Amino acid sequence: MRARPTGKAGSIRVYQGFDFFALDGPVRWFCRTITPRRSMPRLPAVKRFVSNTGVRIYRIACQAFAGLTVRAYLLLGAGPPTLVDTGSGRDHSTEQLLAGLDAVRTEFGESIGVGDIERILITHGHVDHVGGVADLLPHTDALVGIHPLDARVLTAFRQRSVLGNRRRLAFFRRAGVEPELIEKLNAAYAIPGQKTDRVPVALALDDGVQLDGLQIIHTPGHAPGHVCIAVGDVLLAGDHILARTIPQLWPESTAPYNGLGHYLESLEKIRRAGPFTIVLAGHEPPVDDVPHRIEQIENAHRRRLGRVVDAVAEAQGPLTIADVTRRLYPNISGFYLVLALCDVGARVEYLHQRGRIDVANLDEIENEPDPADRYVGTGD
Ligand SMILES: [Zn+2]
Ligand SMILES: [Zn+2]
Repeated sequence: MRARPTGKAGSIRVYQGFDFFALDGPVRWFCRTITPRRSMPRLPAVKRFVSNTGVRIYRIACQAFAGLTVRAYLLLGAGPPTLVDTGSGRDHSTEQLLAGLDAVRTEFGESIGVGDIERILITHGHVDHVGGVADLLPHTDALVGIHPLDARVLTAFRQRSVLGNRRRLAFFRRAGVEPELIEKLNAAYAIPGQKTDRVPVALALDDGVQLDGLQIIHTPGHAPGHVCIAVGDVLLAGDHILARTIPQLWPESTAPYNGLGHYLESLEKIRRAGPFTIVLAGHEPPVDDVPHRIEQIENAHRRRLGRVVDAVAEAQGPLTIADVTRRLYPNISGFYLVLALCDVGARVEYLHQRGRIDVANLDEIENEPDPADRYVGTGD
C-alpha cells in the first residue's frame, strides 16, 4: 500500500525492518513516519526487572535502524553475566548498547562492564538481534550461543544469504509475481553484507537446554532457529510474541521451520511452558497478560486465514498468491509488497497443507517449466 501520508511536512517514510508487517493494524504499524533528526533519538531508559528466581534483568534499548528500536537484555544472577541479543550493529546501535551497559553500572550500581559479559545468547538470526555480535566480541571473550538452525547467520552468512535468495526467488515465481517485478522485489529485500561471517558459535541453543537456570525453548516460525528464553517467571521472547504487532511470517518454502504452522505450534508451546508473569520481547513494551496476548495473536491469524479462504472462494477463477495479495492489500508496493507476498504465501501454504484450498492447474505444473500455482476453494 502506498502508505497514507500520515507524516508532517519535512518527515520521511522509513522501513521498519523485517519483523513488522501488521496487516490487521492501521497503516502506521507497517510504515512509520518519522521526522529526521540530527542527533541520536531519545531511547527508553534502561529498565530493571527481577524474575521470581532472583535474576536481575536489565532491558537496554538501541536503534536497530531508523524507526526501529530493538531491545537487548543483560542478565545478572543466572550464572555468568549474560547478554541476550546484540542490536543490529548498524548506525549507533552498538554505541547505544554500550551506553546502556554503562548505565547498568552507574545508575543501578552493578559492577559490570562489557568485558565482564561471558555469554551472548541470540534469540534468532535476524540482523536487528544478531548484527551487533561482531562489534562486541573485540571487547569480551564471551561465548556465543544461537540455535543451530540460525547459526549460519554467524558462521557462514554468505551461504545462508545466497541460498535464501534462491529460495525466495523460487517462491516469487511460484507466487505468480511478474518477472520484471521479481528482480525489483528481491533487490528491495536484499540484506547488505553482514559483519558476522566468522563468529564461532560455542553454545547450541537447542530446545530444552538449561544454562544456569535459563531454559531454552525452541519457537520456530518467525525464524527457523528462533528461541525464547525462560528466566523463572519471565520470558525473553525475541520476536515470537510482541505486545502490539503480529510478527512477520514467511512461507516454509523459503526456509525449513519458517511458516505459520510452526509459528502457531510455537505459540502453543509457550502457553504450555508458562505461566509467565511477563514477556520481555525484542521490540515494543512488555506483555503482562501473556495468555491473553497469545489468544489475540491466534485470533488475528484465524481472521487472516479466513480472508484468504474467502478471497479464493469468491474469485471467478483460480488465483495465484500474488493475486490473493493484491485482492487483500490492493495498494501495497515496494518492500511492503515483499512482506505482504511472504505473509500471504505463508497463509496459502498453511491452508493448502491442511486441505482447505486446492491447486487447480496440475497439468500446467506437470508440463510447463516453473508455472505459478493457482488456487481454488475446495468446494466445501
Ligand atoms: Zn526483531
Ligand atoms: Zn525477527
